[in-house]
Amino acid sequence: MPGNVPLVSPIYQTGKFAITPDVPMSEQFFYTRVGNPTLKELELNLSEIQQKEDSVVFASGVAAISGVLLSLLSQGDHIIIFREMYRPGRVMVRETLPRFGITSTMLKLGDLEQLESHITPQTKLIYFESPSNPHLQIADIAKIISVARKKNVITLLDGTFAGLHQHRQYDIDLIIQSLTKFANGHGDVIAGSVSGKAGLIKKIRQMSIGLGATLDPHAAFLISRGLKTYSMRYQRHTQTATILAEKLSQHPKVKKVYYPGLRGHESYHLAQSQMQEMGGVLAFEIDPSCGEALAFCHKVKLIQFTASVGSIETLICPTLMFFGDDLAEDHCREMGLNRYSLRLSVGLEHPDDIYHDLDQALQ
Ligand SMILES: *Cc1c(COP(=O)(O)O)cnc(C)c1O
Repeated sequence: MPGNVPLVSPIYQTGKFAITPDVPMSEQFFYTRVGNPTLKELELNLSEIQQKEDSVVFASGVAAISGVLLSLLSQGDHIIIFREMYRPGRVMVRETLPRFGITSTMLKLGDLEQLESHITPQTKLIYFESPSNPHLQIADIAKIISVARKKNVITLLDGTFAGLHQHRQYDIDLIIQSLTKFANGHGDVIAGSVSGKAGLIKKIRQMSIGLGATLDPHAAFLISRGLKTYSMRYQRHTQTATILAEKLSQHPKVKKVYYPGLRGHESYHLAQSQMQEMGGVLAFEIDPSCGEALAFCHKVKLIQFTASVGSIETLICPTLMFFGDDLAEDHCREMGLNRYSLRLSVGLEHPDDIYHDLDQALQ
């Protein structure tokens, strides 16, 4: 009907589209695993926000990671990763890829001087994260890109913690997002995306279709709705996390706080030069007199003990138990992952309410 234009895009909740004779087949939607207008709208928005040529959405952030790795790596290839990154990505590279004859080298983010010497003619990809999950280490992105360019290696950044609006000044080939986190924001959807150079995305989209890792249109709609409040939420998450990081670092029962916005953070200056907002996640280590991190997670009341970040609710979890079990003990120790360390994803509650809950649990 003319004039009947919805301000909010409808959801194309269909698996199939009737094929018409008027349009070339290659320009028609015909099957949702291959393409769907609701997914397309989200992909266009993600490319625009991140200033990348093209994007492809996936059924989860982890599906985006495995989709990229399986698209770009073949038998005999080599990939460089870092200790300081999301556990399932690290496990995929170190435990699954070797079954397909793909080798890897795992470096420390703090040891980038060594990066170039580890690149071989077989190295296809440098896969890194910033800030890292769970302890908020910062990667020197300009340095990684300059080495990768010199050696003709593809750069892949997991940008979930920094969100969609940061790091746009860097010519990173591919950026992965877990849209489950800050993009959706409400903790009710699982989704992921990859954005970057059109030629690479074309290859990754083909693999996504082949793997069947398609996002459901209704989930895509919820992500698109989340994006409408994304920048306001990210700003508030950052403000509250900054307040809490400062208060916790002065608390007598807190031994250490990891937040890139704190002056004492090991990469404070690097973070300031790369990011405008430090985000809503921080990590901290409690004094052993408070008990272990796992017990602490059961003492908080307002804060929820669970996985994930970037939700409207404040979430907490022990870092060693959730993220360290594939790493050597001394690596965990060096990274600050121990039985007393926790990751806090700051929600949209009042900062005083969150702090009071942490304070009562610390007593
Ligand atoms: C959660 C997360 C992922 C995986 O995303 P899912 O949507 O849970 O599959 C990837 N990278 C980082 C940094 C994450 O925090």
